[in-house]
Amino acid sequence: MFKRWQTRKVNIGKLSIGGGSPVLVQSMTNTKTSDVNSTVSQIKKLEDAGCDIVRVSVPDLEAARSIEKIKNKIKIPLVCDIHFDYKLAIESIKRGADKIRINPGNIGSVDKVQAVVEAAKKARIPIRIGVNAGSLKKAQGLDTYKKRAEVLAGSALEHIKLLEKLNFYDTVVALKASDVLTTIEAYRVFASKKNYPLHIGISESGSVYRGTIKSSVGLGVLLYMGLGDTLRVSLTGNPVDEVQVGYHILQTLGLRSTGIDMVSCPTCSRCEVDLIKIVNKIEDEIKSVKISSRYKKKPLKVAVMGCVVNGPGEAKESDFGIAGGKNSGLLFVKGKIIKRLKPKDWVKTILKLIKEKNKGKS
Ligand code: SF4
Repeated sequence: MFKRWQTRKVNIGKLSIGGGSPVLVQSMTNTKTSDVNSTVSQIKKLEDAGCDIVRVSVPDLEAARSIEKIKNKIKIPLVCDIHFDYKLAIESIKRGADKIRINPGNIGSVDKVQAVVEAAKKARIPIRIGVNAGSLKKAQGLDTYKKRAEVLAGSALEHIKLLEKLNFYDTVVALKASDVLTTIEAYRVFASKKNYPLHIGISESGSVYRGTIKSSVGLGVLLYMGLGDTLRVSLTGNPVDEVQVGYHILQTLGLRSTGIDMVSCPTCSRCEVDLIKIVNKIEDEIKSVKISSRYKKKPLKVAVMGCVVNGPGEAKESDFGIAGGKNSGLLFVKGKIIKRLKPKDWVKTILKLIKEKNKGKS
């Protein structure tokens, strides 16, 4: 296992970010925060998907005043995202925010930052400094990612200096750009100078398809370098997808578990069953199994393979698997052949085995 960077531990609600704690998965609602019912309903779906921390934007006083009502109905820590108006941060803290995210680039003068810091200290909650290349004028127009990264990291360091001067150390830092190389380099530069816990993500990474690829590459590299204490995969889509992609990135690196690891082959002319349809159906069905009920367990390895070339080998290495043949498949459980199955029975057999295993029956 690669070594994780040692960062300070910062508490948020009952959880901790950094200091060797598990990498926490975050998402952000896209409802109107002042619409308490819709926001709570979306947060419940995120909780079911295994989301550890949720962020809501607080664009106005009505949203800030809703924080208390939302908090009363949810289980996971709530982060309030504030831009431009420091008073909204103070109101959100009063209403029970578990953490505040401010963009120092637009929150205003030192005395405004100080007012937010004093309120956070009193409430004993952390602040995330979220520096974003999109809102940092100095980072725009530079011709190399290294220069942009230096500016991003430099901006975070300046703000850290101010918070430290105010005797505030419960800080989490994010340095986001929509460009993957800038983001990776900015975190690397910052981590070589300070040990504050890192919130990692690729900002505005795009649609579910493109954003998943960009985030997987960017976050995968950062995590492998040992950097990252909490992550958000930002996607133009359903926030629940962000949580699922986040877990899959972490599972790929052995850092968290979604409960299930699926192995399937790309198919070729040797394949004599409709493997693509079968695998997509299984993937669809397992989405409905609540991650929250299984993500702490070591993932079950399930193999669904097209033929006897690699099929029996992968199926034997898995908790259970099927290796395809001519209009049939051999079912393996814990390395042993159990029976031959018709393709129409593959999906229901795999799902039944997953459910039984989740209940601890097999
Ligand atoms: Fe082709 Fe068989 Fe390999 Fe699948 S397992 S890609 S069907 S050779």
